[in-house]
Amino acid sequence: MAEAAVRLDGVKQMIMTTGTPNTSDRGAAYLTECARAIRARVNLPLQAQCEPPDEFVWFDRMKAAGIDSLGMHLEAADPAVRAQIMPGKATVPLSHYFDAFEAAVRVFGWGQVNTYLLAGLGDRLETLVQMSDRLIQIGVYPFVVPFVPIAGTALAHHAAPSSDFMLALYQQIGDLLKRAGMSSADIKAGCAKCGACSALSMFEK
Ligand code: SF4
Repeated sequence: MAEAAVRLDGVKQMIMTTGTPNTSDRGAAYLTECARAIRARVNLPLQAQCEPPDEFVWFDRMKAAGIDSLGMHLEAADPAVRAQIMPGKATVPLSHYFDAFEAAVRVFGWGQVNTYLLAGLGDRLETLVQMSDRLIQIGVYPFVVPFVPIAGTALAHHAAPSSDFMLALYQQIGDLLKRAGMSSADIKAGCAKCGACSALSMFEK
């Protein structure tokens, strides 16, 4: 199928995500297996997305299977917001994410690891900017995206962030990216490369 997508549709990259599987590897084993199968058929840049696995040796295995970049998504920055919005996922402390980020950057390379930050869930502007700064400093691209309420979900009535909030956020994080020389264009595969959910790439240049 990936072969046909490349040949017939001109697909240039592929993203595989997991959600939150109830396994200690957080889906890394399955992603590794999928990447190996895809890479056996077609030369297509791949991003895998999962939560930090229990053993960081999974990053080496993922890379060896042909995964080019990795997404591990914080979603929110402030521990209090994380606990309120996603009580399950918030049980994984930020310190574990940062250990995983550093280990993943050593394997995938500077700027080839990214994380989703959803603006509008309750994080203050300064908190998101400080978190992005910290991420960029260790080689992780902060993919900042506006929260969009979706009918029928638990957050259907949660307000989306204002345009002014997003503009200020994009400008400040764009400046940090420029200063660091980090760009979504250099990411081999992934959401930041696609960019459809965020206007951040317009502020990197
Ligand atoms: S940026 Fe949005 S549209 Fe693009 S791959 Fe990621 S989730 Fe999908």
